[in-house]
Amino acid sequence: LTDKLQNVFKNLRSKGRLTEADVKTALKEVKMALLEADVSYKVVKQFMKAVQERAVGQDVMTGLNPGQMVIKIVNEELVRLMGSETTEIAFKPGNEITVLMMVGLQGAGKTTTTAKLAGKLKAKGKKPLLVACDVYRPAAITQLQVNGEKQGVDVFAMGDKQKPVNIAKAALEYAKVNSYNTVLIDTAGRLHIDEDMMAELEEIKSNLTVDQTLLVVDAMTGQDAVNVAETFSEKVGIDGVVLTKLDGDTRGGAALSIKAISGKPILYVGMGEKLSDLEQFYPERMASRILGMGDVMSLIEKAQANIDEEKAKQMEQKIKKASFGFDDYLESMNQMKNMGGISSVLSMLPGMSAQMGDIESMVDEKELARKEAMILSMTPQERANPDILNVSRKNRIARGAGVDISEVNRMVKQFEQAKKMMKQMPGLMGGKGGKKFGK
Ligand code: GDP
Ligand code: MG
Repeated sequence: LTDKLQNVFKNLRSKGRLTEADVKTALKEVKMALLEADVSYKVVKQFMKAVQERAVGQDVMTGLNPGQMVIKIVNEELVRLMGSETTEIAFKPGNEITVLMMVGLQGAGKTTTTAKLAGKLKAKGKKPLLVACDVYRPAAITQLQVNGEKQGVDVFAMGDKQKPVNIAKAALEYAKVNSYNTVLIDTAGRLHIDEDMMAELEEIKSNLTVDQTLLVVDAMTGQDAVNVAETFSEKVGIDGVVLTKLDGDTRGGAALSIKAISGKPILYVGMGEKLSDLEQFYPERMASRILGMGDVMSLIEKAQANIDEEKAKQMEQKIKKASFGFDDYLESMNQMKNMGGISSVLSMLPGMSAQMGDIESMVDEKELARKEAMILSMTPQERANPDILNVSRKNRIARGAGVDISEVNRMVKQFEQAKKMMKQMPGLMGGKGGKKFGK
């Protein structure tokens, strides 16, 4: 698939803005990729429409071709659909008990995930108690006890003769008396969505305060996982999802549809059978996995980092020869603007945050227009030779650009700063050092 995509990119070499044709061609491949990743058709369709609307007419970033630019937008939209940020479980303050109830179909990974999560919480300084409420399979209680012991976390069980709601109530009392601050209830699943299961969960919910209901779904089941999330969300109410078995060969398209259809964020992903194999959910990682275009994404990153390497090299030469003038300054500002937010690049450099404000204002559109006006009011000699600028020349420039002389002074100062900065970091403009940003 990736080969196919790269061919598409080769054929899309036009520059400037993304045309409807550019977008359509690239999106055809994206659509295939998403459907292959098992994203629901409905979600794919909505998604295509949103990307199409956003992409057509957008500037193609320098260094990217239109196809890559579309993929870049697609990737951003995927991340946004999955909630953009990593969501954490909300805990009650201090030592108040937070009750988490794990729900889901049989075999989804509830019991395993419950023990995994307990281990994570314990490592974070919580005092968790596991509660065995799956009374239908005697082995389920033992399974939780074995896993709890491995994690060094206590398990509350009352055998298989009690109703789950009563076990849960008793466990909460036990937790209060023994100062546990997190209670994780492992419930019974069924092979399919079924009324008894829902009723049982609702009964627990209405008899004690469940702070977070976490749905565990199996990523390998693809679309079924999404349907399960939708039903549980409607019938029981859920606060978050854990997507298990992502260590399998699924691309995990379910992740995208789950948030889009149930409205609930994915909190964790299960990455294996071992009790340490539970990871926080990162929308960015998931997006590239679903898209299955890791190569293309790193290509894009690289292209972004190597923007106009030729020009940058020329500029470096000029700086070295100390012939960096206002024309170059103007060009460098425009180049930064084209990179779309210099701060994203700079934020990767240590110690740059202090200067970030200066740089941001340097490439602000309006500011840029004023600076352009001032620079264009200079004579070619003045532009190439900043040293000759005296008061009378500055006054003339200010009049020509329709600004105050103080603004000319400020611009000259910023120019000197930029010159100095670029001497310190020749790679900034995408030259040799720029490669560091790519992979
Ligand atoms: P439950 O019926 O929902 O409680 O599911 P279990 O916790 O008993 O898990 C069912 C099976 O899935 C077990 O064999 C687990 O080891 C396995 N399992 C759970 N999570 C993962 C995971 O993230 N990756 C893999 N490969 N297997 C998992
Ligand atoms: Mg179980």
